[in-house]
Amino acid sequence: MDSVIDVAITPSAFSYNIIVRKGCLDDIERYIPMQGKILVLTDSGVPKQYSEAVASKADSAYIYTIPQGEASKNIDNYCKILSFLKDKSFTRTDTIVAVGGGVVSDLAGFVAATYMRGISVYNVPTTLLSQVDASIGGKTAIDYEGIKNMVGVFNHPKAVIIDPNTLKTLSAREVHSGLVESIKMAATMDSSLFSLIEKSDSLEDDIETIITRSILLKKEVVCNDPLEKGMRRVLNFGHTVGHALEALGNGKYLHGEAVGMGMLYFSAPDVKKRIKELLLRYSLPVDNDIPKEDIIKLIAHDKKASGGDVYVVLVEEIGSYVIRKTAIKDLII
Ligand code: NAD
Repeated sequence: MDSVIDVAITPSAFSYNIIVRKGCLDDIERYIPMQGKILVLTDSGVPKQYSEAVASKADSAYIYTIPQGEASKNIDNYCKILSFLKDKSFTRTDTIVAVGGGVVSDLAGFVAATYMRGISVYNVPTTLLSQVDASIGGKTAIDYEGIKNMVGVFNHPKAVIIDPNTLKTLSAREVHSGLVESIKMAATMDSSLFSLIEKSDSLEDDIETIITRSILLKKEVVCNDPLEKGMRRVLNFGHTVGHALEALGNGKYLHGEAVGMGMLYFSAPDVKKRIKELLLRYSLPVDNDIPKEDIIKLIAHDKKASGGDVYVVLVEEIGSYVIRKTAIKDLII
């Protein structure tokens, strides 16, 4: 007879604070313990003042800078950072702080999850996309053999510290591209946030509110479905086609720009009209000439596609959504 040993370990709960405040980078030591060694991971496009603001408060800090861009989210950089941590004798009681956009937080989170079976990571996101989306929710990854986010784990940061003032140095194009993730969350889950974005006549004045409300929406989804087995798929609204457009555009489209167009394929006519108006207001693309067959072919290679099916998120009415499992061959785009 088999011996069956029932190992029931309570799933480790995750709980952390997300701070949103203009100027909070100036007193970052209130939110990140500055004792021990700190590796501040950043990229070459992030103004140095942000990583230095963190490092200057630490007892012992190293700033590690990777080249800017998605290509840096790779296994070579992952290994180099592990070697750096080892050479500087980082232990499990030391800390990594990610200062930058989603590229930096995805890589930092994966390094932190795996170095010595896990050390603490704090996110200080400096792009709008990472403030409302990438730095929250615990997904970390690197790209591998041409496949985006192929290798990664769920690993939550100890805290996320957001200073909206960092957006002042970000290009308008990057800010608008990041705004698409907020539009996505509003379109699917919060009609009043959608109206607020529609009515806003100064993004700069309203950005703190938009960031905070977007985070509350993402938090709700992540807490309900931490491992992306159901409801969390709503965050993929616009992403099924968006990822394909981003890849097939060969650098022509930023992530949010591609997702913006991706949302239009799965929206009812009235919803499409309102989303399109917002995209146009922020000079975001609403059309592309990428052949539909190429889009479908690429979706078939998407890692989320399983057994020839994909989950698509449809929006019939602003503030609501339906998730439908669809055979890729039956996708109507
Ligand atoms: P990014 O990290 O490449 O940043 C965009 C550019 O902005 C970079 O060149 C960077 O150097 C520069 N930059 C960053 N902050 C700046 C600032 N304040 N001022 C001036 N320049 C600044 O891009 P992103 O859009 O932030 O993130 C995209 C990445 O996020 C992708 O790799 C994507 O897979 C990942 N992502 C992850 C999640 C998740 O849940 N983990 C969600 C969405 C996206």
